[in-house]
Amino acid sequence: MSTLFLRTLRDDPADAEVPSHKLLVRAGYVRRVAPGVYSWLPLGLRVLKAIENVVREEMNAIGGQEILLPALLPREPYDTTNRWTEYGDALFRLKDRKGADMLLGPTHEELFATLVKGEYSSYKDMPVILYQIQTKYRDEERPRAGILRGREFVMKDAYSFDLDDDGLKTAYNAHREAYQKIFERLRIEYVIVAATSGAMGGSASEEFLAESAVGEDTFVRCVESGYAANVEAVVTRAPEPLPYDDLPEAVVHDTPGTPTIDSLVDWANAALDGQYSGADTLKNVLVKLRAPGGEWEITGIGVPGDREVDFKRLEASVEPAEVELLTDADFAANPFLVKGYIGPKALAENGVRYLVDPRVVEGTSWITGADQPGRHYVGLVAGRDFTPDGTVEAAEIRDGDPSPDGAGPLVSAKGIEIGHIFQLGQKYTDAFEVDVLGENGKPVRLTQGSYGVGVSRLVAVIAEQSHDDKGLRWPKSVAPFAVHLVIANKDEAAVAGAEQLAADLDAAGLEVLLDDRKASPGVKFKDAELLGMPTIVVVGRGYANGTIEIRDRFTGEATEVAVDTAVDSVVAAARA
Ligand code: ATP
Ligand code: MG
Repeated sequence: MSTLFLRTLRDDPADAEVPSHKLLVRAGYVRRVAPGVYSWLPLGLRVLKAIENVVREEMNAIGGQEILLPALLPREPYDTTNRWTEYGDALFRLKDRKGADMLLGPTHEELFATLVKGEYSSYKDMPVILYQIQTKYRDEERPRAGILRGREFVMKDAYSFDLDDDGLKTAYNAHREAYQKIFERLRIEYVIVAATSGAMGGSASEEFLAESAVGEDTFVRCVESGYAANVEAVVTRAPEPLPYDDLPEAVVHDTPGTPTIDSLVDWANAALDGQYSGADTLKNVLVKLRAPGGEWEITGIGVPGDREVDFKRLEASVEPAEVELLTDADFAANPFLVKGYIGPKALAENGVRYLVDPRVVEGTSWITGADQPGRHYVGLVAGRDFTPDGTVEAAEIRDGDPSPDGAGPLVSAKGIEIGHIFQLGQKYTDAFEVDVLGENGKPVRLTQGSYGVGVSRLVAVIAEQSHDDKGLRWPKSVAPFAVHLVIANKDEAAVAGAEQLAADLDAAGLEVLLDDRKASPGVKFKDAELLGMPTIVVVGRGYANGTIEIRDRFTGEATEVAVDTAVDSVVAAARA
C-alpha cells in the first residue's frame, strides 16, 4: 500500500447520495471525470475485471463466443432500423472530418445482425451465440449514483441467432440460467421479473433486478405465488362482465364546481343515495399518441377515478407509439373536450379513440363527465351507454392489488436492473434481411435474442448490497484482493514476519494487499474496513507472543491464530 496508487478520503463526495457511490469514491475505487463518466483506479479496476471474468466464464459455459465490436459506429445501420431517430437525445452523435454522421454505440443489435449476415450463409452454421464485454455510451438524462447510471459504462451484450422459435427459446433459457449462476456467484440478491419490451420491440423478455432501496425500478411481487413483474408488465385482472338489464337509466346531474375526483365524490355523497368513492367514478385523461412515422392522434384513457394514470405503464402499453399529454392549444382546437367534465359520449361522437382500464367491463356503472361544464352522468353503463375501442394497461398499480395469477395481493419493492434477456425475434434480421440457406434449399430468416448484463453497474450494485457503516465488504468472488494484511507493530521482527507471511500467502495463491505504510494502526484499521477485502490479517502486538489476528470483514469476527501455522489458517479463512 505504500506504493499503491490510492488515496482514501475521509469525507463523502459532495455530489454523492447513494452509499455505494460515497464509498467507492472515498475508498479510491473510482474518480469522476464528468457527470456519468468515471475513471477506474487500481482497486476498482480489479473488481470490474473480476466481475467481467465471472460473466465471461458463464457465457463461455453456454457456448457463447467472445468478440469485440467498435464503440464508434457509422449511422447507416441505425438508420435502417430507425434507431438513429428513435433513440432520441440518449444517443451520442458525432460527425467525422468528412461530415459523415457517426455515433457511439448504446447497444449493438444492428451490428451483430449484419455481422452474422456477412459471415454465415447456411443452416449448418446455426445456431450461434456471440457476445462482447464492451463500453457503451448513452447520454442519460439523469446520470446517477456514480457508476450506477453512467453515460459511459461497461455492458456484456450477447446475441443469439437461430433458425426457429424453438432454437430461440433454448438460447433464451440458456442465458437465463447463465445469469442465475452469474448473480449467484456475485452474491447478489435479485429477482427475475416479467418485463416489457422497451425500445427494442419484440416478444418475451425478463429483467433481473437487484433488490435495493436506491433502485429506480419499481417491481411488484406476490408472496404467495412468487410472481414478480415490472410495474409496466403487470396485467390487470379484469372482472367478469355484469348483467345490466335491471340497471337504472343514466341521468345527467348538475354538479357545479366538481372538476376533480374528490369534489365529484363529495357531491355524490351529498346528493345521491348511498356511499361513493373515487372507484365509482370514471376519469378520462386525454393524451396524444403517435405511431412511428404516423400523425399525432388524440386518445381518451378511461381509468377508475381512485387511480392515477401511470405514464410509464401507458407508454409501455402503447409502445412503439409515443405519448404526450394534450396541450392547452389542443383543448382549444377541440372545443368538445370540456376540461374536468370529459365523458365517453363526446369522445365517441367526435371519433376520438377511447381506451379504458380493464376494470371497466360490460355492465359496470359509472359517474363520469357529461361533456358540459359542471355536469356529470350518474349510472353511465359500459356496454350499454358507451362502448370503448379497447382496453389499456395505464392505471397505476397499488400495493394490495390482486396478483395477475390470482394467488394473493401484490406488494411493491425497488430494484436496480442488472440484466435483461430478450427474445427479439426477427425485428433486426428482417431489417437487414439476415437469411441463411435452409436444409430444403430455401432461405430461412434468422431469429435473434439479445441479452445484456450491466457489468460496471454491478460494481456499484454489489457495493450497495454488501456495504456496512464502516465501508465496503466485497464477496470473495470479486474482491480486489483476498487478504488485507495490516502491519500494526513497528517492531522489526514483526515487520519482517508480516512481509514473510505476505510472501507465503502469495505463494499459496492468495492475492494480498499489504499495508506497509508508516501510519498508525488506527488509520490502517479504518482503511482496511473502508476498502473491504473479505479477510483482514493483523500482525500486531500479539506477534511477540506468537499470535496474529484474522478478521472476517463480513461477520466482524476476529480470531487469534498461531504465527507458526498462520499461512494455513489464513488460507483456510480466505477460501472458506
Ligand atoms: P435502465 O432501465 O436501468 O436504463 P436499460 O433498460 O436501458 O436499463 P438495457 O438497454 O437492457 O438497459 O441494457 C442492459 C443492461 O445494461 C441493463 O440491464 C443495465 O444493467 C445496464 N445499463 C443500462 N444503462 C446503463 C447505464 N446508464 N449505466 C450503467 N449500466 C447500464
Ligand atoms: Mg436505460
